[in-house]
Amino acid sequence: MVYVGVDIGATYIRVGLIDKNGNVINKVKTKQPSTGDENVVANMIIRLIRDLAMDSSIEGIGIGSIGPLDLKEGIVPWAPNAPIRRFKVAEPIIKAFRMPVVLGNDAMAAVWGEYLFGIGKGADNLIYMTFSTGIGAGIIVDGHLLVGKDGNAHEIGHLVIDINSGIQCGCGGYGHWEALGSGANIPRVIKEFIKGKSYKSRLYDKLTKNGNVSTEEVFQAYYEGDELARDFIDNYLARVYVAGLVNVISAYDPEIIVLGGSMALNNKDLFKGFIERYLRHYLAIPIKPARIEFTEFGDDVGIIGAAALAIRTPDTLSKYVERYKRFLS
Ligand SMILES: [Zn+2]
Repeated sequence: MVYVGVDIGATYIRVGLIDKNGNVINKVKTKQPSTGDENVVANMIIRLIRDLAMDSSIEGIGIGSIGPLDLKEGIVPWAPNAPIRRFKVAEPIIKAFRMPVVLGNDAMAAVWGEYLFGIGKGADNLIYMTFSTGIGAGIIVDGHLLVGKDGNAHEIGHLVIDINSGIQCGCGGYGHWEALGSGANIPRVIKEFIKGKSYKSRLYDKLTKNGNVSTEEVFQAYYEGDELARDFIDNYLARVYVAGLVNVISAYDPEIIVLGGSMALNNKDLFKGFIERYLRHYLAIPIKPARIEFTEFGDDVGIIGAAALAIRTPDTLSKYVERYKRFLS
């Protein structure tokens, strides 16, 4: 008896077989399809589940997807970071396996996984934050997973951090947290940052000559002591991250914030340093800060979390599971 956890990311789709205690039994990962219609993502997932599960009897299927979501329809209507922007999720998978499916946003799934099985186990006020291609969060307040009218109660990547910013987010808005700090956007943001400035720096030379650097190069240069990378990360990016975190703490009053996503997990000490330096600067004095931890699930957080949605379905998602039963007829 196993549960299936499906993690639909911007770049990869991961599928895992998970036992009822949150242990990964088997898993597979593949690139998102880059062309096709609104069923191509679901069809790929169906194939992956069939290959992975073989003869195992599946107890439930949970899915955590990039958003924003339209939970009522069980679709992703317009994903700013994915190659296929609009795709169906719930309907084709329910029809293929003839069983209920629990769908949530990927960070929503991750926080539920941390709550049931992870470092945030049992903390009724818990936030999972991911810093990778995008910036997202899953939020539990008083033991309830926050969902919202369409499933986007936690789309904190689109909090406005800078009203003066001319940098447009993938979603279309300006000055959003994700636009200023996500892995996908740092190459654009650093170009803006150097305008009118000059550095003795290899990174700066590369930017002014070729016009482009990758996010990995920026962090690499930081660790090599590059002057531009130091200024950009210590004095700008760190503040962008902590300002956003403080907004989240002020809104939800969490006990624990679990950090995940490749940018945070590859730079743990750096992130800890940012928080030490700037948290108290931005946070209201009477508010007790949350404990900051890093996920111990690594890349598996998405599949474990997605399966967790099926293992113990959050009360706030149950009504959607009921609604999707129409796809069985
Ligand atoms: Zn945005």
